[in-house]
Amino acid sequence: MAISNRLTGLAAGVILAAGAASAQQYPEQSITMVVPFAAGGPTDTVARLIAEKMSADLGQQIIVENVGGAGGTLGAGRVAEAEPDGYTMLLAHIGMATSATLYRSLAYDTLNAFDYVGLVTEVPMTVIARQDFEPSDFASMIEYVKANKDTVTLANAGIGAASHLCGMMLMSALDVPLVTVPYKGTGPAMTDLLGGQVDLMCDQTTNTTKQIQGSTVKAYAVTSPERLEIFPELPTAIEGGLDGFEVMIWHGIYTPKGTPAEVNQRLSESLQKALADADIATRFAELGTEPSPAEDATPEALKTKLESEIARWKPVIEAAGVYAD
Ligand code: ASP
Repeated sequence: MAISNRLTGLAAGVILAAGAASAQQYPEQSITMVVPFAAGGPTDTVARLIAEKMSADLGQQIIVENVGGAGGTLGAGRVAEAEPDGYTMLLAHIGMATSATLYRSLAYDTLNAFDYVGLVTEVPMTVIARQDFEPSDFASMIEYVKANKDTVTLANAGIGAASHLCGMMLMSALDVPLVTVPYKGTGPAMTDLLGGQVDLMCDQTTNTTKQIQGSTVKAYAVTSPERLEIFPELPTAIEGGLDGFEVMIWHGIYTPKGTPAEVNQRLSESLQKALADADIATRFAELGTEPSPAEDATPEALKTKLESEIARWKPVIEAAGVYAD
């Protein structure tokens, strides 16, 4: 018994030592970064900018894999089940918190299925429409939508997506249900908006800035507490009379639960370097956002954010009584 215990202890020691050695050499191969929405959308844009910088720092390629569907929960589920070896991570947004309540039978337990790397950025949303949508400003859009609630269509990226959350907030503020059209991400939704197949959408500035600047879509309002420097002419939704209509889309990087702490730490340091890069600050500013400060790009800060955001949205969703299932 004593011998077998000693052997078990020795084996554990060997495994721990091997783990420590591999954490020191990490990463030894390419890393997959799962984006739980379609390519070409706002989450994908943020992920690709960050992946490129982290990849240069880590000395290994980071391959962005788009796993869209079910408002981001399919991609998150993929990472929840992946090997916790540091070679799979997830870049996801606020939907990680809202989907924990919106889906009563999620395939993973949000607070227990992941480890944390850090926060990446907080992005405002914009309320936009196809270019030839009749109303010319926020006030007339509100009137028009109320008068045409049976025909106006609202695109989103599925239940749990930021566009879904913002769309729900809009419908609840106007007290009208609209016909919603779900996509695997707002990249493809934007294609349809540009093509005139759908009328309205709420989406992050990381997807809408170029279209707004190029006047290929009509923009009505921003969801940030203050107006944005890049669109000084656009009112906030609150200024437009919708009390409490304020939402910022925070993004974080997660790994599967059980990933060695040293690996999460290494990824976090790499994320902090990426966020401190002047190039990232410039690209983010062009897209209406800014990098999270180094103190937020840590496992602890993301864990705290996720926990507090689940607690913040749970009563709101429960009061609305809207669930994915
Ligand atoms: N903007 C999308 C959302 O609604 C996600 C995406 O396509 O990146 O959450």
